[in-house]
Amino acid sequence: MLHRYGERVHKIAIDANFTCPNIDGSKGRGGCTFCNNVSFSPNGRQPPGVIEQIAAGRRVIRKRTGARKYLAYFQAYTNTYADIGQLRQLYDQALAEPDVIGLAVGTRPDCAPIPVLDLLAEYQQQGNEIWLELGLQSSFDESLRRVNRGHGFSEYKTAILEARKRGLQICTHLIIGLPGETKQHCKVTLERILELGVDGLKLHPLHVVKGTQLANEWRRGEYQPLLLDEYIEIATDLIRHTPPEVIFHRVTATAAPRLLLAPDWCSKKWLVLNRITDALHRLHLTNNSSRTTTDCKEPLQWNSSAPPATCLL
Ligand code: SF4
Repeated sequence: MLHRYGERVHKIAIDANFTCPNIDGSKGRGGCTFCNNVSFSPNGRQPPGVIEQIAAGRRVIRKRTGARKYLAYFQAYTNTYADIGQLRQLYDQALAEPDVIGLAVGTRPDCAPIPVLDLLAEYQQQGNEIWLELGLQSSFDESLRRVNRGHGFSEYKTAILEARKRGLQICTHLIIGLPGETKQHCKVTLERILELGVDGLKLHPLHVVKGTQLANEWRRGEYQPLLLDEYIEIATDLIRHTPPEVIFHRVTATAAPRLLLAPDWCSKKWLVLNRITDALHRLHLTNNSSRTTTDCKEPLQWNSSAPPATCLL
């Protein structure tokens, strides 16, 4: 973003009060086993309006980083799961803010129909910075079934091919540590994704949070989260096997302390980032002149505009 815009561009996370087709029955019921869907209860969420959330995010981010340009990041739940007119209205509201230069829209691969892709492409043609963030998590249908994801790899392929036809930038989300998966699964998933073409990646350790099916499995001893060393090894390996033009938007994630059950290292974002950086330095793969996470003193912040801690779209 610095190269492209000559200045820092920051995402502002937005909860636009979407729901999820994997919970309401249109795609599945119960949601992903790692998803805390307590917040789907009728009174569980009453997020402020889009403009209000942008204003709140802008205040915090500008103070913290000095950024003056932003992407509106429609992050919480499935951000394409609505009537196209309603989507246009929400996205338009964000783009009407003078310092919002684009959108990042998080969704499921089975929820990116042609009209939505056309709409995003239209924004892109108007000069906006547009990112479609697709939650794939794994390319193995068996793994996706095991976490009740409600879609397979074929839906991802369809979505990505259609999105790429329209020139959209794609960021694919992957989870490391899914039940039954090994380092080899992660590597194969990366290879399949790179083969289809992608512009960005997000890596996320699978963590166990309260109010989930995964928490029950963990309590019964049926699921063991990764150790920190295992996560570092797999994440580092994926990064070093990814071509440099593919941007890592994220290489770890945390959960709110009030929700996180395991593993406890998931509460320490900077520890994980610094360990990955160190591992990459050891492999002589990072550029010594670049800014590293070790240099960064920004604290992890949770605020009212933060998305639900457990939505791994
Ligand atoms: S993790 Fe995302 S896709 Fe899965 S049930 Fe929750 S909101 Fe839906």
